[in-house]
Amino acid sequence: MSKPSQSLDIQQFALTHRFKLTDLRQAVLTILLESPQPLGAYEILHILRKTRPSAEPPTVYRVLDFLEKQQVVHHLSHNNTFMLCHIAQRHQDVSVVFTCSQCQQAQEFSDPNLVAYLAVLAQAQHIVISNPILQISGQCKDCLARK
Ligand SMILES: [Zn+2]
Ligand SMILES: [Zn+2]
Repeated sequence: MSKPSQSLDIQQFALTHRFKLTDLRQAVLTILLESPQPLGAYEILHILRKTRPSAEPPTVYRVLDFLEKQQVVHHLSHNNTFMLCHIAQRHQDVSVVFTCSQCQQAQEFSDPNLVAYLAVLAQAQHIVISNPILQISGQCKDCLARK
């Protein structure tokens, strides 16, 4: 993918996910888009400083916090990293994020049966699910094929 098409992709992404794009948000989203693996906040900061030497940790955390609230970036609590949402539309529903424990690549799936089941489960348990990411890990098909 070339640079111009990636910035277009990010602009399209912001449009379909309905949030306001700033230069800084675009820079952070581009970093996440270019990375095959989810990244930690300091890894993002390190890359960001190549073009914005004065960027500080709070800058990155503020942007990530905003993007996470918009459900366009997901925080993976098991290794404290961030990934771009892979679902085409902005979602409030539960999705599954699969991380390969070998190559660290992350994939995201949504499944209407799972969404429906979790809604039933939440109702039965009288709970409200606010973090809609179900995190699972294992080996991806590329790593399985490499065996
Ligand atoms: Zn998502
Ligand atoms: Zn893998």
